[in-house]
Amino acid sequence: ASNPKMEANVVVLGTESVGKSALTVRLLTRRFIGEYGDIESIYSHSFMSEGKEITLNIWDSPFSEDLSRETSLFHKKVQWADGFVLVYSICDRASFNTASRLIQNIRSTKHHHGAEKPPVVIVGNKRDLHHRRTVLAEEGQLLALSTDCLFYEVSAAENYHGVLSAFHGLMDRIKDTKLTS
Ligand code: GDP
Ligand code: MG
Repeated sequence: ASNPKMEANVVVLGTESVGKSALTVRLLTRRFIGEYGDIESIYSHSFMSEGKEITLNIWDSPFSEDLSRETSLFHKKVQWADGFVLVYSICDRASFNTASRLIQNIRSTKHHHGAEKPPVVIVGNKRDLHHRRTVLAEEGQLLALSTDCLFYEVSAAENYHGVLSAFHGLMDRIKDTKLTS
């Protein structure tokens, strides 16, 4: 029998205002409060999955300096992480382009699991603002397919379950990586 407990480090990345903090707080509290401020924080969240207790340590950061591969902060995050949540807003084309660039940066930075690619979930947030959509769901899907990532469109504002699915989807991938490494 395997260890019933598992811990995993998750880094949330994306440009400013795409909803990184809103998604994190939604997962932790099931609530959407609207304003989040600029707190650098690592949150812990535990839940049961298939009889296993799983603890996620989630690093939410207000900075965008780490969007460039050259910074030591970005390097530090990649070394710490077992998986990534890459967030963009479906109303913000630039945030989608940045998410795409970040995935390339993550993939080309040496990771502590060695040859194993760290799991990434791409999250198109603000789905409730579909009338202002500038990024099609198909574009997110295609990006995920071509980079071997998971993909979810969610609304931190209106739907808790979508947010939960995205984090759990990532968790399942991390489990597979940890079991095989
Ligand atoms: P961060 O800078 O990426 O951490 O973004 P925040 O979580 O602080 O969110 C930025 C703004 O977008 C805030 O005003 C949030 O209330 C808003 N926001 C976040 N998620 C959603 C969403 O799913 N739908 C809508 N309509 N607004 C959202
Ligand atoms: Mg934030």
